Amino acid sequence: VLFKEDPGAALVQTSHMEVVTVPFASPELAEGEVLVKNLYISLDPYMRGRMNTRVKSYSASFELGKVMQAGGVSQVLASRRDGFAVGDIVSTFVGWEEVTLVPAALPLRKIDSAVPVPLSYYLGVLGMVGATAYHGLLDLCSPKAGETLFVSGAAGAVGLVVGQIAKIKGLRVVGSAGSDEKVALLKSQFGFDEAFNYKTVPSISEALGAAAPKGVDVYFDNVGGEHLDAALAHINVHGRIAACGMISGYNGQQYTFKNLTNIIGRQVKIEGFIIGGKLADPEFTARFGGDVGKWVLEGKLKYAEHVVEGIAKAPEAFVGLFKGDNTGKLIIKV
Ligand code: NDP
Repeated sequence: VLFKEDPGAALVQTSHMEVVTVPFASPELAEGEVLVKNLYISLDPYMRGRMNTRVKSYSASFELGKVMQAGGVSQVLASRRDGFAVGDIVSTFVGWEEVTLVPAALPLRKIDSAVPVPLSYYLGVLGMVGATAYHGLLDLCSPKAGETLFVSGAAGAVGLVVGQIAKIKGLRVVGSAGSDEKVALLKSQFGFDEAFNYKTVPSISEALGAAAPKGVDVYFDNVGGEHLDAALAHINVHGRIAACGMISGYNGQQYTFKNLTNIIGRQVKIEGFIIGGKLADPEFTARFGGDVGKWVLEGKLKYAEHVVEGIAKAPEAFVGLFKGDNTGKLIIKV
């Protein structure tokens, strides 16, 4: 899949990408290079920022006319890198494509396929998504048992993990999502105490006030805009906010805040973060992998995936992230 056109400040469309078929010719590998067959690739909201070629985002823009990139779980087809053999399952950055030549400079992580979890989990709960939830909630917000957590985008990849870790830590958990089906799932399958459909309530702030009568101690923000403003309206003194994502503004939408001054009066700590750096920190990855791996294997942390089959469907699936088509982690099964 090639990056065809910068969407500017408009909603991303499939026409901004192009699916092409090219014949595959097995390349001659240089020292350190690895050829992989992609099994699963991860499509994520931050990639919308990479489609902005005129505005700088924290991640480099995709190159027009070139293959788009994504995290992948792949199988080694040929290798000239020490420690990696044909047949190994690895996780690395690949293209939105079937086969990728991984350059010598790019790190590869070997996956132990004997662990009884789906390989795609290494792109979700056991990968970047789980790490985002774990770090943003536990390291940045110091949640305490008995406190109230609010998480927006609650039925998405990160949100589902945030809500469940907060339940494991003894918090009261409130979530918002964009459909009645998602709201029902949050309560029936994922242990949320309260949830509401932000698209049908008269006001997000009123709905949050009713769902969190003792106020909000920790807000995990996946959405920004009106959700963040509502959280600021109901945040308690010494509340903590993890600024993880603001998807409601990724397609150019603007919002005027009304409750920003509560940050001062209520002595709120807001911290933004990018998970990339933490994933290269061995202390963090050991702690995260140990805790989350254990919770998943014990069945304390359940996970949902929205799996779309075939790389040619990737553009449509990606656009769907901004319409709420997915419940849980969007994965392309290549
Ligand atoms: P999700 O799986 O949550 O998918 C996106 C979801 O966002 C959709 O399903 C939709 O659900 C919701 N959404 C889309 N547009 C809007 C809108 N305008 N207003 C409100 N909700 C909307 O994605 P992820 O879990 O992967 O990511 C969640 C957030 O975390 C994103 O903002 C992302 O950028 C951020 N993130 C940040 C990282 C970091 O390092 N800081 C790392 C990973 C993710 P619904 O039906 O509820 O509308």
